[in-house]
Amino acid sequence: MKLPEKYCLEMRKLLGEDYQEYLESFGQPPRSGLRVNTLKISPERFLKISEWDLRAVPWIPNGFYYEGAASPARHPHYYAGLYYLQEPSAMTPASRLPVSPGDRVLDLCAAPGGKATELAARLQGRGFLLANDISASRAGGLLKNLELAGAANILVASEDPGRLAEAWPEGFDKILVDAPCSGEGMFRRDSRMAAYWEQAGPDSYAEVQARLLQAAWRMLRPGGKLLYSTCTFSLKENEEQILKLLKNHPDLSPEPVTPYFEGFEPGKLGLSEAVRIYPHKMPGEGHFLALLKKSGTFEAASEPVRKRKGTLPPEAEDFLKQVRRDFSGYEFLCHKEQIYALCPEMEIKKGIRFLRTGLLLGSVRRGRFEPSQALAMALKKEEFDSVLDLSSADPRTVKYLKGETISLLPEQEGGRARASGWQLICTDGFPLGFAKLAGQNLKNKYQPGWRWQ
Ligand code: SAM
Repeated sequence: MKLPEKYCLEMRKLLGEDYQEYLESFGQPPRSGLRVNTLKISPERFLKISEWDLRAVPWIPNGFYYEGAASPARHPHYYAGLYYLQEPSAMTPASRLPVSPGDRVLDLCAAPGGKATELAARLQGRGFLLANDISASRAGGLLKNLELAGAANILVASEDPGRLAEAWPEGFDKILVDAPCSGEGMFRRDSRMAAYWEQAGPDSYAEVQARLLQAAWRMLRPGGKLLYSTCTFSLKENEEQILKLLKNHPDLSPEPVTPYFEGFEPGKLGLSEAVRIYPHKMPGEGHFLALLKKSGTFEAASEPVRKRKGTLPPEAEDFLKQVRRDFSGYEFLCHKEQIYALCPEMEIKKGIRFLRTGLLLGSVRRGRFEPSQALAMALKKEEFDSVLDLSSADPRTVKYLKGETISLLPEQEGGRARASGWQLICTDGFPLGFAKLAGQNLKNKYQPGWRWQ
Protein backbone atom coordinates (compact mmCIF):
# COMPACT_ATOMS: atom_id res chain seq x y z
CA MET A 1 0.00 0.00 0.00
CA LYS A 2 1.20 3.51 -0.81
CA LEU A 3 1.11 5.69 2.29
CA PRO A 4 1.09 9.50 1.85
CA GLU A 5 4.62 10.90 2.19
CA LYS A 6 3.61 13.65 4.60
CA TYR A 7 1.86 11.07 6.76
CA CYS A 8 4.98 8.89 6.87
CA LEU A 9 7.05 11.84 8.06
CA GLU A 10 4.57 12.56 10.85
CA MET A 11 4.47 8.91 11.92
CA ARG A 12 8.25 8.62 11.93
CA LYS A 13 8.34 11.63 14.26
CA LEU A 14 5.59 10.19 16.47
CA LEU A 15 6.88 6.62 16.73
CA GLY A 16 10.65 7.07 16.64
CA GLU A 17 12.34 3.67 16.62
CA ASP A 18 8.98 1.84 16.53
CA TYR A 19 8.24 3.27 13.09
CA GLN A 20 9.70 0.28 11.22
CA GLU A 21 7.63 -2.13 13.31
CA TYR A 22 4.53 -0.08 12.50
CA LEU A 23 5.27 -0.35 8.76
CA GLU A 24 5.74 -4.12 9.11
CA SER A 25 2.25 -4.41 10.66
CA PHE A 26 0.88 -3.73 7.15
CA GLY A 27 2.11 -7.20 6.23
CA GLN A 28 -0.33 -8.75 8.72
CA PRO A 29 -3.97 -9.19 7.71
CA PRO A 30 -6.54 -7.09 9.60
CA ARG A 31 -8.53 -9.03 12.22
CA SER A 32 -12.26 -9.67 12.08
CA GLY A 33 -14.25 -9.60 15.27
CA LEU A 34 -17.71 -9.99 16.73
CA ARG A 35 -19.01 -8.57 19.97
CA VAL A 36 -21.63 -10.54 21.87
CA ASN A 37 -24.77 -8.55 22.68
CA THR A 38 -25.12 -8.99 26.44
CA LEU A 39 -28.60 -7.50 26.33
CA LYS A 40 -29.61 -10.85 24.85
CA ILE A 41 -27.05 -13.47 25.78
CA SER A 42 -23.95 -13.96 27.94
CA PRO A 43 -20.61 -14.65 26.20
CA GLU A 44 -20.47 -18.04 27.98
CA ARG A 45 -23.82 -19.15 26.62
CA PHE A 46 -23.05 -17.76 23.17
CA LEU A 47 -19.85 -19.82 23.00
CA LYS A 48 -21.95 -22.92 23.68
CA ILE A 49 -24.36 -22.29 20.79
CA SER A 50 -21.97 -20.74 18.27
CA GLU A 51 -20.64 -22.90 15.43
CA TRP A 52 -17.43 -21.00 14.80
CA ASP A 53 -13.91 -21.13 15.96
CA LEU A 54 -13.87 -18.07 18.22
CA ARG A 55 -10.93 -16.69 20.18
CA ALA A 56 -11.29 -14.12 22.95
CA VAL A 57 -10.16 -10.55 22.31
CA PRO A 58 -7.95 -10.29 25.40
CA TRP A 59 -9.02 -6.78 26.48
CA ILE A 60 -12.76 -7.04 25.70
CA PRO A 61 -14.83 -9.37 27.92
CA ASN A 62 -17.48 -9.98 25.24
CA GLY A 63 -15.29 -9.62 22.12
CA PHE A 64 -14.09 -12.49 19.90
CA TYR A 65 -11.98 -12.98 16.79
CA TYR A 66 -13.40 -15.24 14.15
CA GLU A 67 -11.32 -16.78 11.43
CA GLY A 68 -11.35 -18.86 8.29
CA ALA A 69 -14.55 -19.55 6.46
CA ALA A 70 -16.92 -18.24 9.12
CA SER A 71 -19.50 -15.79 7.75
CA PRO A 72 -21.35 -14.64 10.83
CA ALA A 73 -23.39 -12.06 8.90
CA ARG A 74 -25.22 -14.98 7.26
CA HIS A 75 -26.47 -16.85 10.26
CA PRO A 76 -29.87 -16.75 12.03
CA HIS A 77 -28.10 -15.73 15.26
CA TYR A 78 -27.04 -12.50 13.54
CA TYR A 79 -30.69 -11.83 12.66
CA ALA A 80 -31.60 -12.51 16.28
CA GLY A 81 -29.22 -9.68 17.30
CA LEU A 82 -26.94 -11.93 19.33
CA TYR A 83 -23.78 -10.14 18.16
CA TYR A 84 -22.44 -7.16 16.27
CA LEU A 85 -19.59 -7.47 13.77
CA GLN A 86 -16.85 -5.09 14.78
CA GLU A 87 -13.13 -4.58 14.38
CA PRO A 88 -11.59 -5.49 17.80
CA SER A 89 -9.94 -2.13 18.63
CA ALA A 90 -13.23 -0.36 17.85
CA MET A 91 -14.79 -2.36 20.70
CA THR A 92 -12.58 -0.50 23.20
CA PRO A 93 -14.25 2.93 23.65
CA ALA A 94 -17.72 1.66 24.66
CA SER A 95 -16.14 -0.97 26.90
CA ARG A 96 -14.11 1.70 28.78
CA LEU A 97 -16.89 4.27 29.32
CA PRO A 98 -18.18 3.13 32.72
CA VAL A 99 -21.92 2.93 31.97
CA SER A 100 -24.21 1.45 34.62
CA PRO A 101 -27.87 0.44 34.38
CA GLY A 102 -30.02 3.51 35.06
CA ASP A 103 -27.55 6.05 33.56
CA ARG A 104 -28.57 8.73 31.10
CA VAL A 105 -26.16 8.14 28.23
CA LEU A 106 -25.39 10.13 25.08
CA ASP A 107 -23.56 8.81 22.03
CA LEU A 108 -23.00 12.00 20.06
CA CYS A 109 -21.60 10.57 16.78
CA ALA A 110 -23.23 7.19 16.87
CA ALA A 111 -23.83 5.85 13.33
CA PRO A 112 -23.84 3.04 12.38
CA GLY A 113 -24.06 1.97 16.03
CA GLY A 114 -20.95 -0.11 16.72
CA LYS A 115 -20.57 1.57 20.08
CA ALA A 116 -24.18 2.60 20.72
CA THR A 117 -25.30 -1.06 20.66
CA GLU A 118 -22.77 -1.88 23.38
CA LEU A 119 -23.76 1.18 25.44
CA ALA A 120 -27.41 0.06 25.21
CA ALA A 121 -26.42 -3.43 26.34
CA ARG A 122 -24.58 -2.00 29.33
CA LEU A 123 -27.75 -0.15 30.39
CA GLN A 124 -29.56 -3.52 30.57
CA GLY A 125 -32.88 -1.80 29.84
CA ARG A 126 -32.63 0.83 32.61
CA GLY A 127 -31.98 4.55 32.10
CA PHE A 128 -31.81 5.62 28.47
CA LEU A 129 -29.52 6.19 25.52
CA LEU A 130 -29.71 9.14 23.16
CA ALA A 131 -27.91 8.05 19.99
CA ASN A 132 -27.27 10.87 17.55
CA ASP A 133 -25.63 11.31 14.19
CA ILE A 134 -25.68 14.44 12.07
CA SER A 135 -26.13 12.42 8.90
CA ALA A 136 -29.79 11.47 8.57
CA SER A 137 -29.05 8.57 6.21
CA ARG A 138 -26.43 7.12 8.55
CA ALA A 139 -28.78 7.62 11.49
CA GLY A 140 -31.26 5.34 9.65
CA GLY A 141 -28.69 2.53 9.78
CA LEU A 142 -28.02 3.33 13.43
CA LEU A 143 -31.71 2.93 14.24
CA LYS A 144 -31.84 -0.44 12.51
CA ASN A 145 -28.81 -1.70 14.41
CA LEU A 146 -30.18 -0.56 17.77
CA GLU A 147 -33.54 -2.19 17.04
CA LEU A 148 -31.87 -5.41 15.88
CA ALA A 149 -29.92 -5.42 19.15
CA GLY A 150 -33.22 -5.26 21.06
CA ALA A 151 -32.61 -1.82 22.61
CA ALA A 152 -35.92 -0.32 23.73
CA ASN A 153 -34.89 2.62 25.94
CA ILE A 154 -33.52 4.70 23.07
CA LEU A 155 -33.93 8.06 21.46
CA VAL A 156 -32.38 8.26 18.00
CA ALA A 157 -31.75 11.75 16.66
CA SER A 158 -30.09 13.38 13.69
CA GLU A 159 -29.19 16.76 15.03
CA ASP A 160 -26.47 19.34 15.31
CA PRO A 161 -24.70 18.85 18.68
CA GLY A 162 -25.10 22.57 19.51
CA ARG A 163 -28.87 22.16 19.34
CA LEU A 164 -28.73 19.05 21.50
CA ALA A 165 -26.71 21.02 24.06
CA GLU A 166 -29.44 23.70 24.12
CA ALA A 167 -32.03 21.01 24.77
CA TRP A 168 -30.08 18.92 27.34
CA PRO A 169 -27.69 21.17 29.32
CA GLU A 170 -26.03 18.96 31.98
CA GLY A 171 -28.41 16.25 30.80
CA PHE A 172 -26.20 13.12 30.76
CA ASP A 173 -24.20 11.00 33.20
CA LYS A 174 -22.03 9.43 30.50
CA ILE A 175 -21.15 10.74 27.05
CA LEU A 176 -19.25 9.13 24.22
CA VAL A 177 -17.75 11.33 21.49
CA ASP A 178 -16.49 8.93 18.83
CA ALA A 179 -15.44 11.73 16.57
CA PRO A 180 -15.17 11.90 12.79
CA CYS A 181 -11.44 11.82 12.05
CA SER A 182 -8.79 11.36 9.37
CA GLY A 183 -8.87 7.58 9.94
CA GLU A 184 -5.11 6.95 10.05
CA GLY A 185 -5.67 3.91 12.25
CA MET A 186 -7.76 2.25 9.52
CA PHE A 187 -5.27 2.44 6.62
CA ARG A 188 -4.43 -1.29 6.84
CA ARG A 189 -8.10 -2.23 6.78
CA ASP A 190 -9.17 0.16 4.06
CA SER A 191 -6.46 1.48 1.75
CA ARG A 192 -8.89 4.01 0.23
CA MET A 193 -8.66 5.94 3.49
CA ALA A 194 -4.96 6.51 2.91
CA ALA A 195 -5.77 8.03 -0.49
CA TYR A 196 -8.55 10.12 1.03
CA TRP A 197 -6.17 11.42 3.72
CA GLU A 198 -4.33 13.44 1.05
CA GLN A 199 -7.50 15.48 0.50
CA ALA A 200 -8.80 15.48 4.08
CA GLY A 201 -6.08 15.07 6.68
CA PRO A 202 -6.05 16.05 10.38
CA ASP A 203 -6.52 19.77 9.67
CA SER A 204 -9.90 19.06 8.09
CA TYR A 205 -11.30 17.52 11.29
CA ALA A 206 -9.77 19.51 14.14
CA GLU A 207 -12.45 22.20 14.13
CA VAL A 208 -15.45 19.87 14.19
CA GLN A 209 -13.79 17.74 16.89
CA ALA A 210 -13.35 20.84 19.09
CA ARG A 211 -17.01 21.79 18.56
CA LEU A 212 -18.19 18.28 19.43
CA LEU A 213 -16.16 18.28 22.64
CA GLN A 214 -17.45 21.70 23.64
CA ALA A 215 -21.08 20.58 23.12
CA ALA A 216 -20.39 17.36 25.05
CA TRP A 217 -18.94 19.35 27.97
CA ARG A 218 -22.16 21.41 28.12
CA MET A 219 -24.27 18.26 28.21
CA LEU A 220 -22.21 16.47 30.86
CA ARG A 221 -23.58 16.48 34.41
CA PRO A 222 -21.29 17.36 37.31
CA GLY A 223 -19.71 14.07 38.37
CA GLY A 224 -20.33 12.67 34.87
CA LYS A 225 -17.79 11.03 32.54
CA LEU A 226 -16.94 11.76 28.95
CA LEU A 227 -14.99 9.44 26.66
CA TYR A 228 -13.42 10.86 23.52
CA SER A 229 -12.23 8.43 20.86
CA THR A 230 -10.91 8.48 17.31
CA CYS A 231 -9.43 5.93 14.94
CA THR A 232 -6.48 8.14 14.09
CA PHE A 233 -2.94 8.80 15.39
CA SER A 234 -2.48 12.53 14.80
CA LEU A 235 -1.69 14.60 17.90
CA LYS A 236 -3.80 17.41 16.49
CA GLU A 237 -6.94 15.26 16.53
CA ASN A 238 -6.19 13.52 19.82
CA GLU A 239 -4.09 14.84 22.72
CA GLU A 240 -4.15 18.44 21.46
CA GLN A 241 -7.96 18.40 21.40
CA ILE A 242 -8.14 17.07 24.95
CA LEU A 243 -5.49 19.42 26.33
CA LYS A 244 -7.30 22.41 24.82
CA LEU A 245 -10.59 21.25 26.35
CA LEU A 246 -8.96 20.76 29.77
CA LYS A 247 -7.45 24.24 29.58
CA ASN A 248 -10.81 25.83 28.77
CA HIS A 249 -12.73 23.83 31.37
CA PRO A 250 -10.93 23.44 34.69
CA ASP A 251 -13.89 21.40 35.99
CA LEU A 252 -12.69 18.53 33.75
CA SER A 253 -9.85 16.19 34.66
CA PRO A 254 -8.39 13.15 32.91
CA GLU A 255 -9.06 9.72 34.39
CA PRO A 256 -7.13 6.50 33.80
CA VAL A 257 -8.72 4.12 31.30
CA THR A 258 -9.58 0.93 33.14
CA PRO A 259 -9.21 -1.96 33.03
CA TYR A 260 -5.78 -1.32 31.55
CA PHE A 261 -4.36 -3.74 28.99
CA GLU A 262 -0.67 -4.43 28.54
CA GLY A 263 -0.77 -3.57 24.82
CA PHE A 264 -2.13 -0.05 25.44
CA GLU A 265 0.36 2.79 25.00
CA PRO A 266 -0.02 5.94 27.12
CA GLY A 267 -1.08 9.20 25.46
CA LYS A 268 1.55 11.73 24.33
CA LEU A 269 2.20 15.38 25.36
CA GLY A 270 1.98 14.45 29.04
CA LEU A 271 -1.57 13.09 28.76
CA SER A 272 -0.49 9.73 30.13
CA GLU A 273 -4.02 8.73 31.25
CA ALA A 274 -5.13 8.54 27.60
CA VAL A 275 -4.64 5.36 25.60
CA ARG A 276 -3.15 4.82 22.16
CA ILE A 277 -3.78 1.55 20.37
CA TYR A 278 -1.27 0.67 17.63
CA PRO A 279 -1.54 -2.22 15.17
CA HIS A 280 2.10 -3.17 15.83
CA LYS A 281 1.46 -3.47 19.59
CA MET A 282 -1.96 -5.16 19.67
CA PRO A 283 -4.03 -7.48 17.45
CA GLY A 284 -6.35 -4.75 16.13
CA GLU A 285 -6.34 -1.45 14.21
CA GLY A 286 -5.34 2.01 15.47
CA HIS A 287 -7.37 3.97 18.03
CA PHE A 288 -7.11 6.70 20.63
CA LEU A 289 -9.22 7.18 23.74
CA ALA A 290 -9.30 9.64 26.62
CA LEU A 291 -11.64 9.52 29.60
CA LEU A 292 -12.52 12.75 31.43
CA LYS A 293 -14.52 13.46 34.57
CA LYS A 294 -16.45 16.62 35.39
CA SER A 295 -16.06 17.71 39.01
CA GLY A 296 -18.98 18.07 41.39
CA THR A 297 -22.03 16.01 42.10
CA PHE A 298 -25.37 16.13 40.46
CA GLU A 299 -28.38 16.84 42.65
CA ALA A 300 -31.16 14.96 40.95
CA ALA A 301 -34.21 17.22 41.18
CA SER A 302 -36.72 14.76 42.57
CA GLU A 303 -37.93 13.91 39.10
CA PRO A 304 -41.51 12.70 39.26
CA VAL A 305 -41.93 9.14 38.10
CA ARG A 306 -43.89 9.49 34.93
CA LYS A 307 -47.42 8.31 35.26
CA ARG A 308 -48.75 6.19 32.47
CA LYS A 309 -50.00 8.83 30.08
CA GLY A 310 -51.88 8.69 26.85
CA THR A 311 -54.52 6.09 26.34
CA LEU A 312 -53.72 3.17 24.14
CA PRO A 313 -56.16 2.35 21.36
CA PRO A 314 -58.21 -0.71 22.42
CA GLU A 315 -56.65 -2.86 19.66
CA ALA A 316 -53.17 -2.20 21.07
CA GLU A 317 -54.36 -2.67 24.65
CA ASP A 318 -55.79 -6.05 23.61
CA PHE A 319 -52.56 -7.15 21.89
CA LEU A 320 -50.44 -6.17 24.89
CA LYS A 321 -52.34 -8.70 27.02
CA GLN A 322 -50.11 -11.31 25.34
CA VAL A 323 -46.94 -9.45 26.29
CA ARG A 324 -45.56 -10.26 29.71
CA ARG A 325 -43.65 -7.06 30.31
CA ASP A 326 -44.43 -4.43 32.89
CA PHE A 327 -45.04 -1.10 31.17
CA SER A 328 -46.10 0.71 34.35
CA GLY A 329 -44.56 4.16 34.51
CA TYR A 330 -44.18 4.22 30.72
CA GLU A 331 -45.64 6.94 28.58
CA PHE A 332 -47.50 5.87 25.44
CA LEU A 333 -47.33 8.16 22.47
CA CYS A 334 -49.57 7.79 19.45
CA HIS A 335 -48.30 9.51 16.35
CA LYS A 336 -50.31 9.01 13.17
CA GLU A 337 -50.89 5.22 13.20
CA GLN A 338 -47.87 4.38 15.29
CA ILE A 339 -47.62 3.74 19.00
CA TYR A 340 -44.45 4.22 21.04
CA ALA A 341 -43.61 3.33 24.63
CA LEU A 342 -41.25 5.72 26.43
CA CYS A 343 -39.51 4.55 29.57
CA PRO A 344 -39.94 6.76 32.67
CA GLU A 345 -36.56 8.55 32.47
CA MET A 346 -36.95 9.56 28.83
CA GLU A 347 -37.73 13.13 27.86
CA ILE A 348 -38.62 14.28 24.38
CA LYS A 349 -37.48 17.79 23.60
CA LYS A 350 -39.25 20.08 21.17
CA GLY A 351 -37.49 21.06 17.96
CA ILE A 352 -35.10 18.07 17.87
CA ARG A 353 -35.07 15.86 14.76
CA PHE A 354 -35.85 12.41 16.10
CA LEU A 355 -35.89 9.22 14.06
CA ARG A 356 -37.15 7.22 17.02
CA THR A 357 -38.62 8.07 20.40
CA GLY A 358 -38.68 5.00 22.63
CA LEU A 359 -39.86 1.57 21.60
CA LEU A 360 -42.12 1.39 18.56
CA LEU A 361 -44.79 -1.06 19.72
CA GLY A 362 -46.65 -1.23 16.42
CA SER A 363 -49.38 0.48 14.47
CA VAL A 364 -53.14 0.44 14.24
CA ARG A 365 -54.50 0.12 10.71
CA ARG A 366 -58.13 -0.31 9.81
CA GLY A 367 -59.02 -1.30 13.34
CA ARG A 368 -56.19 -3.86 13.64
CA PHE A 369 -53.00 -3.71 15.66
CA GLU A 370 -49.80 -4.88 13.93
CA PRO A 371 -46.85 -5.37 16.29
CA SER A 372 -43.53 -3.95 15.07
CA GLN A 373 -40.28 -5.68 14.24
CA ALA A 374 -38.64 -3.57 16.98
CA LEU A 375 -41.04 -4.98 19.57
CA ALA A 376 -40.23 -8.56 18.54
CA MET A 377 -36.51 -7.86 18.89
CA ALA A 378 -36.92 -6.18 22.27
CA LEU A 379 -38.82 -9.11 23.76
CA LYS A 380 -37.46 -12.21 25.37
CA LYS A 381 -38.97 -15.53 24.32
CA GLU A 382 -40.67 -15.90 27.72
CA GLU A 383 -42.36 -12.51 27.36
CA PHE A 384 -44.83 -13.53 24.67
CA ASP A 385 -47.70 -15.98 25.01
CA SER A 386 -47.46 -17.79 21.65
CA VAL A 387 -44.02 -18.79 20.47
CA LEU A 388 -42.68 -20.93 17.66
CA ASP A 389 -39.06 -21.69 18.45
CA LEU A 390 -37.17 -23.06 15.44
CA SER A 391 -33.67 -24.46 15.51
CA SER A 392 -31.19 -22.32 13.55
CA ALA A 393 -30.54 -25.46 11.47
CA ASP A 394 -34.26 -25.86 10.57
CA PRO A 395 -34.64 -24.76 6.91
CA ARG A 396 -37.83 -22.91 7.89
CA THR A 397 -35.74 -20.39 9.86
CA VAL A 398 -34.02 -18.99 6.77
CA LYS A 399 -37.31 -19.27 4.83
CA TYR A 400 -38.90 -17.10 7.50
CA LEU A 401 -36.03 -14.59 7.32
CA LYS A 402 -36.46 -14.45 3.53
CA GLY A 403 -40.08 -13.41 4.00
CA GLU A 404 -41.60 -16.71 2.84
CA THR A 405 -44.66 -18.40 4.30
CA ILE A 406 -43.75 -21.22 6.64
CA SER A 407 -45.84 -24.16 7.72
CA LEU A 408 -46.39 -25.70 11.11
CA LEU A 409 -45.33 -29.28 11.72
CA PRO A 410 -48.16 -31.60 12.88
CA GLU A 411 -46.98 -31.51 16.50
CA GLN A 412 -47.04 -27.70 16.48
CA GLU A 413 -50.54 -27.37 15.03
CA GLY A 414 -53.11 -26.01 17.39
CA GLY A 415 -50.95 -26.67 20.43
CA ARG A 416 -49.96 -23.18 21.52
CA ALA A 417 -51.86 -21.16 18.92
CA ARG A 418 -54.08 -18.43 20.34
CA ALA A 419 -57.29 -17.03 18.93
CA SER A 420 -55.54 -13.79 17.89
CA GLY A 421 -53.08 -15.74 15.80
CA TRP A 422 -49.92 -13.72 16.54
CA GLN A 423 -46.83 -15.87 17.02
CA LEU A 424 -43.36 -14.80 18.05
CA ILE A 425 -40.92 -16.68 15.81
CA CYS A 426 -37.69 -17.51 17.61
CA THR A 427 -34.50 -19.32 16.74
CA ASP A 428 -32.66 -21.32 19.41
CA GLY A 429 -34.71 -19.40 22.00
CA PHE A 430 -34.18 -15.85 20.64
CA PRO A 431 -36.87 -13.77 18.85
CA LEU A 432 -36.61 -13.06 15.12
CA GLY A 433 -39.98 -11.46 14.39
CA PHE A 434 -43.73 -12.00 14.26
CA ALA A 435 -45.97 -14.18 12.11
CA LYS A 436 -49.72 -14.59 12.03
CA LEU A 437 -51.43 -17.91 12.10
CA ALA A 438 -53.65 -18.55 9.05
CA GLY A 439 -54.89 -22.13 9.04
CA GLN A 440 -51.80 -24.37 9.03
CA ASN A 441 -49.59 -21.65 7.64
CA LEU A 442 -47.90 -18.76 9.28
CA LYS A 443 -48.27 -15.48 7.43
CA ASN A 444 -44.85 -13.91 7.46
CA LYS A 445 -44.63 -10.49 9.16
CA TYR A 446 -40.85 -10.18 9.10
CA GLN A 447 -39.89 -6.58 8.24
CA PRO A 448 -39.34 -6.54 4.45
CA GLY A 449 -36.29 -4.23 4.54
CA TRP A 450 -34.50 -6.62 6.93
CA ARG A 451 -34.88 -9.78 4.87
CA TRP A 452 -32.14 -12.36 4.32
CA GLN A 453 -30.88 -11.75 0.76
N1 SAM B 1 -19.55 5.61 16.74
C1 SAM B 1 -19.79 5.04 15.44
C2 SAM B 1 -19.74 3.51 15.54
O1 SAM B 1 -19.06 3.01 16.42
O2 SAM B 1 -20.41 2.84 14.75
C3 SAM B 1 -18.83 5.54 14.40
C4 SAM B 1 -18.83 7.04 14.31
S1 SAM B 1 -17.86 7.68 13.00
C5 SAM B 1 -16.25 7.55 13.60
C6 SAM B 1 -18.16 9.38 13.13
C7 SAM B 1 -19.60 9.78 12.85
O3 SAM B 1 -19.72 11.18 13.17
C8 SAM B 1 -20.09 9.65 11.42
O4 SAM B 1 -21.18 8.76 11.38
C9 SAM B 1 -20.53 11.05 11.02
O5 SAM B 1 -21.71 11.08 10.26
C10 SAM B 1 -20.73 11.72 12.36
N2 SAM B 1 -20.57 13.16 12.41
C11 SAM B 1 -19.78 13.96 11.66
N3 SAM B 1 -19.92 15.24 12.04
C12 SAM B 1 -20.80 15.25 13.06
C13 SAM B 1 -21.37 16.28 13.86
N4 SAM B 1 -21.05 17.56 13.70
N5 SAM B 1 -22.28 15.93 14.79
C14 SAM B 1 -22.63 14.63 14.97
N6 SAM B 1 -22.14 13.63 14.23
C15 SAM B 1 -21.23 13.94 13.30
